[in-house]
Amino acid sequence: MVVHSATLELDERVRARRAAGHHVVHLGFGEAGLPVLPEVREVLAGATGLNSYGPVVGSAEARGSAAGYFARRGLPTEPEQVIYGPGSKALLFALLSVLGGDIVLPRPSWVSYAAQAGLTGRGVIGAPISEVAGGVPEPNGLERVLEGARADGRKPAAMILTLPDNPTGTLAPAEQLEAICDIAQRYELLLICDEIYRDLVYHPERFRSPATIAPERTVVTSGLSKAMALGGWRIGLARLPDGRWGTSLRTELVGVAGEIWSSLAAPMQEVAGYVYSEPEEVVAYVSRGRRLHEAVSTAVHRVLVSAGARCRPPQAAFYLYPDLAPLRGRLAGTRVTGGTGLAELLLERHGVGVLAGTMFGDDPGALRLRVATSLLYGDTEEQRWRSLHSENP
Ligand code: PLP
Repeated sequence: MVVHSATLELDERVRARRAAGHHVVHLGFGEAGLPVLPEVREVLAGATGLNSYGPVVGSAEARGSAAGYFARRGLPTEPEQVIYGPGSKALLFALLSVLGGDIVLPRPSWVSYAAQAGLTGRGVIGAPISEVAGGVPEPNGLERVLEGARADGRKPAAMILTLPDNPTGTLAPAEQLEAICDIAQRYELLLICDEIYRDLVYHPERFRSPATIAPERTVVTSGLSKAMALGGWRIGLARLPDGRWGTSLRTELVGVAGEIWSSLAAPMQEVAGYVYSEPEEVVAYVSRGRRLHEAVSTAVHRVLVSAGARCRPPQAAFYLYPDLAPLRGRLAGTRVTGGTGLAELLLERHGVGVLAGTMFGDDPGALRLRVATSLLYGDTEEQRWRSLHSENP
C-alpha cells in the first residue's frame, strides 16, 4: 500500500509548479520559515567532528537538558523518560507501531496520524471536536464514540491529542482536558499528546498538559521544528509516562528505534542539548516568533471573518482553519462544491497552495491555511529577521 503524506504531496506540487515558472503562494506547508538563530548555527558548526553512533535514546546531556525543559513547565522528568528521534513524526510512528488496538483521533486532526495508523495496521476511531474546545473532542461525545466502538468489538488503545491544535490553531481549556483524562483513565487509554506547538501558545499561562493531569498514562511528543523553525534538522523527542507504563514503552521504543534510525544524528543532539537548556537568546527568539505569529494570524483572521468566512479565533502557532461554506455563492460558476475542489481551484487557477479539511479527516468545507508565508514574513533572511525584531509586527 502506498500512502502519500498530504502535506508533502502538496509541497511537491507547489515545487513543480514553481519550477515550471508559475508564481505560487504556499499556504500549505507546516513551518514558519524563520531564519536559524546564529547561536544555534554555531553549536552545529562546533559539532561536525561528532561522527560516532551514540545511545539509541540520545546522549545523557541532551536528555538531561530536555528533562529540565519539562521540569520548568511543571512536569518533573527523569532523563530516562526522554527519547530522541529524527523528528517527532518518526517517534509517533514508532509509538503507534508498538501499541495494540485502535487509535482514537479527534476529527479533524493532523494529517499524518491517520496515515501512520494505516501504515502500522491500527484502526482509527474518529471523535468529532466541538466548536469551542480547541481541537479536542467534547467529553460526552467522546464517551459515546468509545461506547459505540466497544459495542462494535473494537479495542481503543490510545488517543492522540494535539495541544495546541493543528489544523485549528486553537488551544483546549484545562477543564476539558481534565474530563478527557478522566475518560482515558476509565477506558484505559494511553494518551499521546503532541505538543510540538506548545511554545507558540499566545497566552502560555493558559496551557495545561495532560501529562500534568495523568502523568502515568501520557506520552508527550515535541521537537524543534516549529518554535525554533528547525524542521529540516529533524530533531524530535518523546517524554514517556511516569511509572511502569513508561518503562515498558521505553523498552519497546528502543527496540523499534534501534532497528530504524539507531539514534538522532550526533551533531543534532548537541543542538537539542543547547536549545532545551533554554539560554536567553533561545527564549528571546521563541517569544519573538510567537508574537509575530500572533500578530499575523490575528490580522488574517480578521480579514477572513469580515469577508464572511466562519473561523475560530487563533490561539497558537500560525494556522487558521476557516470554513468557507458561507462564501459559496461567490464561487458560482466555478462548479466548486467543497474544500477539496476549492483547494484544487486555488492552486491551479490562482497559484495558492492550501490543504482541504478533508485531508484532516474533516467534513468538506474547511481549508487549513498557514499564515506564516513569505508574503507576510518576508522573502529574504534579512527581511525575516526584520519581521522578527519588529516592535509592531
Ligand atoms: N505534529 C504536528 C501536529 C505537526 O503539525 C507536525 C508538522 O507539521 C509534526 C508533528 C511533525 O513534527 P516533526 O518535524 O518533529 O516531525
